[in-house]
This record gives sequence, structure tokens and C-alpha cells, in this order.
Amino acid sequence: MTDQRTLAEILGAINTAVGSTLAWVVVEEEGEIQHASAGHHSCSLKDTLAFLEHSQLRRHQHAWRVICWRRQVGSLLFPAGHEAVDKYQSGILCKLNSTASGLDGFFFLAFPRVLSSMDIIKSVVIILVDKLKDHLLDIVARERMVREMQRIVAQYKVLFERAPVLMNSFDKNNRCVLWNGECERLFGWTIEELNQCSDPLALFFPDAEIRHQVRATVSSSATVDMHEWHPVKRNGEALTVLWSNILLPDKSILSIGLDITERKKVEHQLAMKATTDDLTGCFNRFSILRQFKEALVACVPGDPFSHFSLLMLDLDHFKSINDRWGHLTGDAALLHFCEKIRELSLLGYSLGRLGGEEFLILLPGEDSESAMRFSQKIRSALMDKPIFKEGEKITLSFSAGVVFVTGGVSDTSVLLTLADNALYDAKRTGRSKTVISEAIF
Ligand code: GH3
Ligand code: MG
Ligand code: MG
Repeated sequence: MTDQRTLAEILGAINTAVGSTLAWVVVEEEGEIQHASAGHHSCSLKDTLAFLEHSQLRRHQHAWRVICWRRQVGSLLFPAGHEAVDKYQSGILCKLNSTASGLDGFFFLAFPRVLSSMDIIKSVVIILVDKLKDHLLDIVARERMVREMQRIVAQYKVLFERAPVLMNSFDKNNRCVLWNGECERLFGWTIEELNQCSDPLALFFPDAEIRHQVRATVSSSATVDMHEWHPVKRNGEALTVLWSNILLPDKSILSIGLDITERKKVEHQLAMKATTDDLTGCFNRFSILRQFKEALVACVPGDPFSHFSLLMLDLDHFKSINDRWGHLTGDAALLHFCEKIRELSLLGYSLGRLGGEEFLILLPGEDSESAMRFSQKIRSALMDKPIFKEGEKITLSFSAGVVFVTGGVSDTSVLLTLADNALYDAKRTGRSKTVISEAIF
């Protein structure tokens, strides 16, 4: 009997051995009740406890060790009207106390007939219980542990499936062995679909070089640092995901990922907003002046590639456009002005709005003559593409000042003043022209 693995199997074997048709065990440990039964009818825990309560056996436990019923034990075991009530006559209840393990319990057998040899059976049960007691209690403890393990496994399974983080694992043969619900939801492939490919990783990382790097970080060592990767989804959309690898006790590596695609987009939008002029889409004052400062820091007298030109522009008689056509047309004119400059798209140039109808263009690697030519191109473009308002043509014109910067000065305000002075000269001497500052720094 001790070969039997579960409590129910042991009880079944006892039934077979002694001719009983119902056997159960109830064990109480630290307030927790466990119960197992075997036989023709399953005796529920509720019925079992009612039987013990009803018979007041639990209250007077110290007074007895074995109790026998000669007949009609079925009526004590089952509620009135239950089909099993008249199926059980004799019954034996035996205490299962073990001071060593701290367990407390009862063992019960019921027989279909009135036993004539009750005393013999009683002695057999006492010996049986003595022999089996510790073993039974061991099994009870083990079953409880198994149930606890199953509960923990179920908890982790739910956590693995439902956690809003990506969890997956690939074995040495590139097979995907773990792929949680969030992975399936985000990437769009099931684990079965992944494993139909000879190299599932190629689905997310089509670039062989990147795939090689990913594999190297996963297989080399576990790291708590989070690395940013850009896998693609089933629909081809690129994601931004932070991954870290955890070494599990069986030496496999679990990758945990956090999808930060949306966060990155928002960050990018905020960064754009912080550096862009809302109306015209070019750089705002803060951003263009910062770029100017950086260009100046990088500017070295002996290195012509680091030299650059500053082109400061101011629209001519812009106030009259507002006055004549209204502020909205003025806004449209500012946007039109910037679009024409953008369409010329000189390599590496930066266009920023200093304020109102005043702009600054940085022309890296270009001298003042080149800046002058660029300003003329803008002028021609504005002439070629005027704005039309209520059938009337509005041709934008601007005046500009140029300063060629070769690294002789480190103060941006000095250079801005020079550009402003040249621009003022252009205004003063008739507008719609570009003046190059005499001073070269
Ligand atoms: P000048 O040739 O001497 O530069 O003459 P101007 O009329 O262009 O210069 P002024 O400084 O007298 O006027 C600039 C005008 O630009 C006044 C202001 O209302 C207008 N302005 C500034 N910012 C905006 C804007 O964002 N939208 C519109 N519609 N107008 C603006
Ligand atoms: Mg103006
Ligand atoms: Mg102005």
C-alpha cells in the first residue's frame, strides 16, 4: 500500500484489502483541512465534517481512539434522502494523531453489510492505521505542497501571460521557447508561427548585422542594463523596445522588454516643438542661436571647412501686408517665404526665425559671396512665385546682411550686430538687396 502515490489511491487499496466500500481521511493542520475519499460514493468534506460534528466526536476527542458503528452508519454519513444512506451499515472511525508532525486527523472505513467480525476488523484497522499513519500524513503534507506549487505556477503563468511587459526566450537552436501574451499582441506572431521559420529572430530583425548583435547580447551574458533595439512588427512597423536579459536557474536566458515606441514618438514631438517655430516650421530663435553658437565654437581660423556665413534677412514693408490684407495673410506670407527658402535646400544650411519677420540662415562652409548668391536665389524664387490674394499679386521682398565667420571671434552678439548693421545698410540704401559686412572674423 505504501507504493500508492496519492491519498485516494491508498484509500482505494485499503478498500480492496479489507472489503470496505468507502474510505476517507480528514487531516487538519494549522487550521487548514484536507480531505480525500475513495469508494463507491464520494463522501464530501462537508458531509465528513457534519458527521464528525454531529457525533460530537471532535469535542470529546481525548476520550477515544477508535469508534465502531455496527449498523446504519450511512444515515450518519449522508444527508437524509441521499441514495447512499442505506448502502453502508458498519463503520470504523480511527484517530490519526501525530504529535511529531503536529497533524491531527481521522481515518474512516464503511462496509456495505453488518459486520459479524467487527472486533477482528477493528484490530486490523488499528494495526493498519498504526503502520500507515506517518505515511498517510506524509502524503497529506506532500499533496498540500503540490497544490501550493500548482497555485504558485498558476500565479506565475497568469503573470507571464498578462504582464504588460514583453517576455521571451530562445534556445541555442534559435527556437522560441517562451513567448508571452504581450509579445504576441505587440509583434503579431504566435509562438507556433515563429517556430515555423528556421530563424525566427530574422522576422523582427531582418538586418543580418543587427541580428548578429542582438544574438550576441542575448547569448553572451545576462545583463540588467536595458538596451534599445528597433525590431519590426508583423505589419512592418518599426518599434523602439528596451530589452534586458535575465539568467534563469537552468542557465537559459529570459529577455524582458518594454515597448517605448509611443513614448519615443512623444519625446520626439516635444523636442521638435521646443526647437521649431510653430507658424513657419523653421527653427525657432532659441534653436537657431544655439546652432550658431555651436558653429562658432567649432570654427577654427586655419580650417576652412569649419568657416561659415551668417545671413540675416528681414522682409521689406511687411507691416503694409498686414495693414492691407490682414494678419492672416501676413502669416501666410511668412510661411510662403520660408517654404521658398526650403525649396532651394542648400546642403547643410539652417533656417531660423529670430522674431517677427526677421530670419537667420547659417551656411556652413560658404563664404560671403556664396551667401550673397544664395540670397539672390531666394529673391528670384520669391519673384517667380508671388502670393495671390483676391486676384492681386503680392511679391515678397527682403533685405539681408551677410557676415563671413572664420573663427576670429567667440562672441555671437558681436557677429549678430555686424549682420544687423549690414542688413540696416541694405534697408537704408533702398531695400530688396543684400549687403556683405566689411569685417571678417
Ligand atoms: P521694413 O522694410 O523697414 O522692415 O518694414 P516692415 O514693415 O517690414 O517692418 P516693421 O518693423 O515696421 O513691421 C514689421 C511687422 O511685422 C509688424 C508686425 O505686426 C509684423 N509681424 C511680426 N510678426 C508677425 C507675425 O507673426 N504675423 C504677422 N502677420 N505679422 C507679424
Ligand atoms: Mg521688415
Ligand atoms: Mg523687422
